[in-house]
Amino acid sequence: MDTTALVICEHCDSVYRRMPLHHGQTACCTQCGAVLYSNRSLDLDAMLALAVAAMIVLLIANAYPLMQVELGGITRETTLWNIILITFDSKVGLIAVVSALSIFFFPLLQIALYLYVLLPLRLGHVPPAFAGAMHALRQMQPWSMVEVFVLGVLVSVVKLAGVATVSAETGLWGFGVLTLLITALGGFDLRELWDRAAELGE
Ligand SMILES: [Zn+2]
Repeated sequence: MDTTALVICEHCDSVYRRMPLHHGQTACCTQCGAVLYSNRSLDLDAMLALAVAAMIVLLIANAYPLMQVELGGITRETTLWNIILITFDSKVGLIAVVSALSIFFFPLLQIALYLYVLLPLRLGHVPPAFAGAMHALRQMQPWSMVEVFVLGVLVSVVKLAGVATVSAETGLWGFGVLTLLITALGGFDLRELWDRAAELGE
């Protein structure tokens, strides 16, 4: 049996036989009404460009200082990893671990997974373990919290500005840009990648 011709509703697990659609048409689940697949133009190049840019910006944001703090004539530059290590040494080690996961490791894994599925699809073949990678990508979206972190840093910059001279550095701008890139990537519909993989698999 040719399983590539089947489509499973992500919401209620109903199974359907895939039908060819005209451009702009959408197939919906008759049980729960969820969208199954659609025939829209997929901009793989745009997604791939966003994913590559996000990976570069993530590395820059982590490597460069977030801010410069000047207090009593002493100037210090702080990177994300300084903050995480200081937090780990204080009595709230768990917060440091959660921060490191949600600000660095989850976005890194998320972007790496995007690249893992996008690059081969762009080159015209489906990568091994495509379904697993796609499920991981969907599960991971709520756990990548770069934007929460950026807000937190901005709040502390504003608070510190009352007692010290604070200036934003490359790392903080990097996280700002990263937030925009990840949000833009998240705006693409993952179902369109499933559709592309199904077309290539046929
Ligand atoms: Zn359904």
